[in-house]
Amino acid sequence: MSQVNTVLGPVDTTELGFTLSHEHITLGAAGAAATYPGFQDRQHIADSATAALTEAYEGGVRTIIDVTTFDLGRDVSMMVEVSQRTGVHVIPCTGNHLAVPRIFWGAPVERVAELFIKEIEEGIEDSEVKAGIIKVASDRGGVTPNEEIVLRAAARASNATGTRISTHTWSPDRVGDQQVRILKEEGVDLNRVYVGHSNDDTDVGYLTGLLEEGVWLGLDRYPGGRTSETPTWDVRTAVVKQLIDAGWAHRLMLSHDHSTPAVQPSEELRRERGEFNPDGYLFITRNVLPRLLELGATDADVQAIMVDNPRRFFED
Ligand SMILES: [Zn+2]
Repeated sequence: MSQVNTVLGPVDTTELGFTLSHEHITLGAAGAAATYPGFQDRQHIADSATAALTEAYEGGVRTIIDVTTFDLGRDVSMMVEVSQRTGVHVIPCTGNHLAVPRIFWGAPVERVAELFIKEIEEGIEDSEVKAGIIKVASDRGGVTPNEEIVLRAAARASNATGTRISTHTWSPDRVGDQQVRILKEEGVDLNRVYVGHSNDDTDVGYLTGLLEEGVWLGLDRYPGGRTSETPTWDVRTAVVKQLIDAGWAHRLMLSHDHSTPAVQPSEELRRERGEFNPDGYLFITRNVLPRLLELGATDADVQAIMVDNPRRFFED
């Protein structure tokens, strides 16, 4: 029996159920709560996130992988509170997003890896909450030298502990290919790697190339169409169906990259930015899965993508 760390302690993978593979309870900035207290209404955010995840639970969601890192303002005690109040398993992460802390610039990879290993084996900050996954990130233009330090540190922490890696990419620039090359250099088992944000483009050749390397694929931006340059949700869903037809239903996961805003922009502004998502963590359940079935996917495909694959990802 395999287990994975959640904010409320280790959970058997068989308990995970319907899982969203890349979400956030909320997003902030490292140190903001201590430096600018009151700028964000922390309890209001916790209450809003609780309402959103209670609705998600009622809609069948049982687990979210919350890839909110230190530099994204990870608030472990809020994650614990929201998980307790909603019953949703929340798998927290170590690692780093795009704002690589200046203290890591040029740092020895091993020293950064030790920080990640500490968060996996002992706990995050002074809490008992242990990280269940390692997040890394690169965006437009590819892996920068400082992001490479984080990526290699993540690889070493994964090799030392068996913890899975989740990546943020910019798929139009095929950033996943670079990440995979570096992870391979570090000897990472690619069955432990999830290449995320792989649905901001429709290049199925790039995606199947990654799958053939042995990674899991996260089609985890929905509804999408955040900017006019990225595909709308129905185009993204057609790509999922193409991958299913190509025989990859056993290696795909879906998610939204949703978060409860720390400071709520107006509905008008969110519509303008293409961020308006009234279904929140249930957009996939209410829109994408019915569309996949309409396109000819089977119930078994949906079961694989939403339940079995996230479970198997965490199993040895
Ligand atoms: Zn994200």
